[in-house]
Amino acid sequence: IGLDKSFAPYAKERLFINGKWVGSASDHVIEVINPATGTIIATIPKGSSKDAEAAVDAATKALPEWKSQTGKERARILRAWFDLILKHETDLARLLTAEQGKPLNEAVGEIRYAASFVEWFSEEAKRVYGDLIPAPTQDSRIMVSKEPIGVVAAITPWNFPAAMITRKLAPALAAGCTVVLKPSELTPLTAFALAALAEAAGFPNGAINVVAGDAQAIGGVFTADPRVRKLTFTGSTPVGKILTAACAATMKKVSMELGGNAPVIVFEDADLDLSVTEVIAAKFRNTGQTCVCANRIFVHSSIYNEFAEKLKNKISSFRLGDGLLHETDQGPLINQIAVEKIERHIQDAVGKGAKVAMGGNRIEGNGNFFAPTVLIDVPQDALLNSEETFGPVAPLIRFDSEQEVIQAANATPYGLAAYAFTNDLRRFWRVSEQLEAGIVGFNTGRISTEVAPFGGIKESGLGREGSKYGIDDYLELKYVCLGDV
Ligand code: ADP
Repeated sequence: IGLDKSFAPYAKERLFINGKWVGSASDHVIEVINPATGTIIATIPKGSSKDAEAAVDAATKALPEWKSQTGKERARILRAWFDLILKHETDLARLLTAEQGKPLNEAVGEIRYAASFVEWFSEEAKRVYGDLIPAPTQDSRIMVSKEPIGVVAAITPWNFPAAMITRKLAPALAAGCTVVLKPSELTPLTAFALAALAEAAGFPNGAINVVAGDAQAIGGVFTADPRVRKLTFTGSTPVGKILTAACAATMKKVSMELGGNAPVIVFEDADLDLSVTEVIAAKFRNTGQTCVCANRIFVHSSIYNEFAEKLKNKISSFRLGDGLLHETDQGPLINQIAVEKIERHIQDAVGKGAKVAMGGNRIEGNGNFFAPTVLIDVPQDALLNSEETFGPVAPLIRFDSEQEVIQAANATPYGLAAYAFTNDLRRFWRVSEQLEAGIVGFNTGRISTEVAPFGGIKESGLGREGSKYGIDDYLELKYVCLGDV
């Protein structure tokens, strides 16, 4: 079995270490499976701790040269990478869909979104400014400069196999850091393809290294090695906590983009049709498998029934299937574990009084498909109010007052995204200030863009990605005091 290279001749089934495409020091392999069909689409070497060490060696060796280049020089290479990603967007998207499942149009959207971070940080590479601070004494001067933090380790998930990588690598490389990347073992092919395009763009050997495989072993090297000065992670909150704790031993800087349990509040004065459309965008994108997906949908009781009807109507036209087929607008879930979690959440909610208004069942066959589901009369104590569902389940919860719903929306250890729908300007200010979330979308379900800071509060993580702030996570401040002037 081999990867169909007809659509992406640069696609690789090897690890990328020190500018070379290599096998693993272990003899083990990982099979990459298409979640829509259950077929094996590629076999890759299963990277081990030895491979991770080799990657850190390479990144350490490459660091002095890469960080001594000017921002303008690094910008040029990043820009070349951006151009190549866009040039190959169609075949990158097909590769992404084949290993991850999302419909092709969403995959193209993700590749463009992924590329946008490379473009943005290629520009920001030239704008890493310091300060000249007025000194408290006449005979001294105070300067502040920003320096690359050093070797950066990045660990990324399967739900956005391209964008979660560029969102980390682009600012790190722009800042002058070198990188060791461990993509998800479920979706390594997109990562290798991006690295192949980076190689073509002209990054020096060792600036970018990609090791997929044994997550614990590779993560163990990344967190323990004192040469790695920063870990940036996107994934689940439990794993984020383990990695943060492991980084404490060498006091690494960490960025953690973790789970969410996004509330949506549809107030009685909202534009109903707009709310339905946008809630669907926030809920069913990537079949509900994003950390900013609407997990709890609070609807005012005066519009509750109408909202539920309109939502069901729209969802009933969804066409489930293989994302590579053009008619598909809902892909499969990543694996059977994901299917089981959704079943557990639905059973729990129903056991506590919720009703299945639509869907509620897995779809038998080779792929990991689940029927788009609407639950009504979901009680506050249902499991999905406290855990991230990560699937195509829209639970509708009734509320009566603004105060009550804000309290309920904030009653979660997570604080990534929140959404609200209202046409009342005073309410907009009140609610936006009270919601405990790093990102709040009003009258929209689409909040992701490279120009804005993405990240969470509470147990949703640390740090921000994208925007003018995103590069700060890869820089250290240096204060230089010049005396005797
Ligand atoms: P998800 O629920 O999105 O799969 P995970 O947190 O399990 O989230 O996975 C996100 C990334 O973290 C993946 O690349 C996965 O391989 C990696 N990962 C999972 N467990 C560990 C671990 N103990 N050490 C290092 N990386 C891990």
